[in-house]
Amino acid sequence: MGQALSTHQKCGTRTRTGRKCGNPVDKHSDYCESHECPIGKCKEKSEDGRSFCLHHTCLKCRNLTDPGLYCYTHKCKSDGCSSPRRSGGNGQRFCERRHACTITVCPRKRVVQWSTYCRMHKCSVQSCGAEARAEGGICAANPHAPHDLGLVELPTGT
Ligand SMILES: [Zn+2]
Ligand SMILES: [Zn+2]
Ligand SMILES: [Zn+2]
Ligand SMILES: [Zn+2]
Ligand SMILES: [Zn+2]
Ligand SMILES: [Zn+2]
Repeated sequence: MGQALSTHQKCGTRTRTGRKCGNPVDKHSDYCESHECPIGKCKEKSEDGRSFCLHHTCLKCRNLTDPGLYCYTHKCKSDGCSSPRRSGGNGQRFCERRHACTITVCPRKRVVQWSTYCRMHKCSVQSCGAEARAEGGICAANPHAPHDLGLVELPTGT
């Protein structure tokens, strides 16, 4: 009896003023309730002024991650992709790296693996991944059959 409380039982998180928190720690945790990440079995320290620990805080805002590094509103909407969605507003929902249409103002998703454009900005020739000259049309980069919008076939060179 009469044993001194070890420092372990007081939350040592430093507050913004630099003082130690000093609140009693939560069971099985090194931190008090307000300095502990509330997610499941996560016993990590929540960041000062944030609700969750580093692992559970979106890298772009203070919301909970979804899971991964970003929250629901900052994560690419493509299934299984955990990259951040492209910034820039106007309904951007997909990541720059793999899923968003290369046209930066366009919020649509890439249609096929071999193109970096969405269905409106990709050449309408199925196998061609180049950018369409006009929305829904064919590209200017590759020679396509003459019946495509009456374009004259270019010599292939080589
Ligand atoms: Zn605390
Ligand atoms: Zn956590
Ligand atoms: Zn976020
Ligand atoms: Zn993605
Ligand atoms: Zn597009
Ligand atoms: Zn094309």
